[in-house]
Amino acid sequence: MRVLAFTCGWLTGPLSNFLAGEDGRLRAPVPCYLIDHPRGKVLFDTGLHRALATNPAGRLGFLAKVFEVEFGSRELVSERLATVGVDPGEIDYVVNSHLHFDHVGGNAEIPNARIVVQRPEWQAGHAPSLARRNVFDARDYDTGQDVLQVAGEHDLFGDGRVVCVPTYGHTPGHQSLLLRLDGGPILLASDACYLRRTLDDMHLPAVVHDGEAARAALRYMDGLRRSGTRIFFGHDPEFWKTVPQAPDPIR
Ligand SMILES: [Zn+2]
Repeated sequence: MRVLAFTCGWLTGPLSNFLAGEDGRLRAPVPCYLIDHPRGKVLFDTGLHRALATNPAGRLGFLAKVFEVEFGSRELVSERLATVGVDPGEIDYVVNSHLHFDHVGGNAEIPNARIVVQRPEWQAGHAPSLARRNVFDARDYDTGQDVLQVAGEHDLFGDGRVVCVPTYGHTPGHQSLLLRLDGGPILLASDACYLRRTLDDMHLPAVVHDGEAARAALRYMDGLRRSGTRIFFGHDPEFWKTVPQAPDPIR
């Protein structure tokens, strides 16, 4: 099984959005991962919508005032896949951690995939008040593919190597992806754990959907880390420097 990391743009926003109460700003990577399993190709998150390369304000509305977007057309997830010889049409599954714009914006680029999302997240994405409160944009994820709604842990290929794990709290049905590599297990935490400091200090962002659930998710990840799982933080620029970038695999 081969796992590749791609940087699909950068977002700069108030540090308090990542760590409540902190001053200053943070320039954060937008990661996507390709998991090439013998029985199928999986993309974990899809980054930003192609319109953000030319007109972020037109697409994002007020969020474009919160986040400065650095995103060229070559950072679109489909373009990043092309650099490693993978046609977007060959992707079998898109596992979306959650429905925020920097995680589902590229779903439209992946036409033949089945979308794998936690049921509470998908439901929130289609309940107007919850969608509004969580700043979801249905144009990002109502893109026509089959959707597999899972509830809790879901072993994608039945061999324990690619497992969706619920890490609710950041949003109603956030999930992370547990990968069992030859070099040991890794957890792609996504936004259940923005930064290394989030986990080291149990320090939540200023805004979460459910603080109690978010803290429980961090305790779960802390337990995994103590037992030897490497945690891949969702938007940590310092951590990101240590992650091999495609075409170099994560081992
Ligand atoms: Zn994010």
